[in-house]
Amino acid sequence: MLQSPANLERARTTLREVFGFESFRMVQEEVVGRVLAGQSTLAVMPTGAGKSLTYQLPAVMLEGTCVVISPLIALMHDQLRSARANGIRAATLTSADADWRETQDAFRAGALDLLYVAPERASQPQFRDLLSAAPLALFAVDEAHCVSEWGHDFRPDYRQLRPLMDAFGDVPRLALTATADGRTRSDILSQLGIPDDGLVISGFDRPNIRYAIRPRDNLSRQLERLMDEQPGPGIVYAGTRKKVEDLAASLARATGRPVLPYHAGLPAEQRAANQAAFVASEDMVMVATIAFGMGIDKPDVRFVAHAGVPKSIEAYYQETGRAGRDGDPAQAVMLWSAGDFATARMRIGELDEGRQPGERQRLDALAALVEAATCRRAILLRHFGENPPEACGNCDNCLNPPQVLEVTELAQKLLSACYRTGQSFGFGHLQKVLTGAPDERITERGHDRLSVYGIVEGEDAALLQPVSRALQARGCLVPNEHGGLQLGGEARALLTGEAALSIAKPPARSERRQRRSRNEAANPVGDPLFDALRALRRDLAAEQGVPPYVIFHDSVLREMAARRPVSRSELAEIGGVGAKKLEAYGAAFLKVVAEN
Ligand code: ADP
Ligand code: ZN
Repeated sequence: MLQSPANLERARTTLREVFGFESFRMVQEEVVGRVLAGQSTLAVMPTGAGKSLTYQLPAVMLEGTCVVISPLIALMHDQLRSARANGIRAATLTSADADWRETQDAFRAGALDLLYVAPERASQPQFRDLLSAAPLALFAVDEAHCVSEWGHDFRPDYRQLRPLMDAFGDVPRLALTATADGRTRSDILSQLGIPDDGLVISGFDRPNIRYAIRPRDNLSRQLERLMDEQPGPGIVYAGTRKKVEDLAASLARATGRPVLPYHAGLPAEQRAANQAAFVASEDMVMVATIAFGMGIDKPDVRFVAHAGVPKSIEAYYQETGRAGRDGDPAQAVMLWSAGDFATARMRIGELDEGRQPGERQRLDALAALVEAATCRRAILLRHFGENPPEACGNCDNCLNPPQVLEVTELAQKLLSACYRTGQSFGFGHLQKVLTGAPDERITERGHDRLSVYGIVEGEDAALLQPVSRALQARGCLVPNEHGGLQLGGEARALLTGEAALSIAKPPARSERRQRRSRNEAANPVGDPLFDALRALRRDLAAEQGVPPYVIFHDSVLREMAARRPVSRSELAEIGGVGAKKLEAYGAAFLKVVAEN
């Protein structure tokens, strides 16, 4: 069977009728076309691009069952819920399931579109026997980077997949991943036996995510303001367990919104409960360490905030990628400080010599992103090898271009002051020396007789802090264990004038208003019909024990509120309303529209 127009036409019909979607997103169509034509494929698609649809839709259309290998049981159950809500015949076969006998019977009877299993199953002879008992449509391997030692999450069990799939040689394979560099991609292809021309890559851009990166001056207030602007669910990443606990408590107190902590130090039941509450909520904020997020499939996360610098650009992209998977506007806000970089550099110094240069490079790339005055998205996408436009129109620097200041000379003065005072004083002391502030400690040590004393005047004084921040981010100023600053990295090149420094000075004018109006464009909060539709969704979700987004996404409710459908056929025209959901919820939602 080749990729034929007739196949794709049928696929579009199924997309509308079963999933309720109007059109394919990005490379979905190409991937689905290949799968329907029986061509093995590796699809690299960013989080939120809609990977699951690329096997769920063929699973519905094709004869036989699609076997989905997925590494996390929680993730599987989430997928199962969404698939069933669309009327797809799906089951999981995991150690957490009590109904494995029924599942096996259903499979043998050819009554399953999707069978989700964990990779451990793949090596079991009984499982291979089971698979021989009924026709297979497809092997779908989720989080396929787990098969590669080059990937960031190698799982030896994934190596058992190849022998299993080879035993069913004519069943096509679809491997899926969101993150894979070139080396990992070729490794996945060879490890899973997919031909090189089976690689389909979608762009990394997440256009609905607005990136903003700014210095952390008052963390609680900055986060409170963000929560004020974004009433929807959000994640705040903090570095330590203690930070997580403290922030969760203070944000809950200050904002009155539901806020929960999540970190590896909490008992397992507590973690599971907090995670479940977050997934089910329409307004909760989770304050978490990076232990949280892997395997969370919540499409309506409206913001991801970093209370400190992430580990690398890759980590930043992955963590911020948890926002806005439903395609609605979402925000990614990073709040950084010079100290974050100093700590990171210190940690790198403690690593094996061999690993240090690589880690330093990662951190430098991150420092460049943080300090940049140009489009953040362009920097991110270039980092992933793309060739994006110069400006995106949806990041802080595009929306509010900062002033770029050439500060090499000021940086030289600061570095000289550091050097001449013996590289053992903190920023406060250096600042006083440079601005000629009267201070006993300065006269005591004779620092008032140095050539750098009082050489910074006027407006430049206010720039010392951001210059120091930039120098620390770059590793030109490095704190010692007592908080004193020493010269490091490129400091010499700056002092001799071989290197230059510019900083981005954020505009004074507030971005707040702008952000507000954008956000209002998403959900018409305060519209009585929209609120009533949401209330109905909440009730139905509670009744069925599923998160609200499984019933309908916000975008569907928005369209209902705007179009006010009066009949089932009008309701069916709304994107996201498939046949199964129309049947299950149509009457209830039409009633609410009629009454409001
Ligand atoms: P991924 O696994 O790639 O992160 P998902 O498969 O979870 O993404 O899909 C993200 C969201 O996008 C889901 O809520 C899904 O319902 C929605 N989605 C997928 N495909 C489409 C489409 N063609 N049109 C509209 N929404 C879609
Ligand atoms: Zn931009």
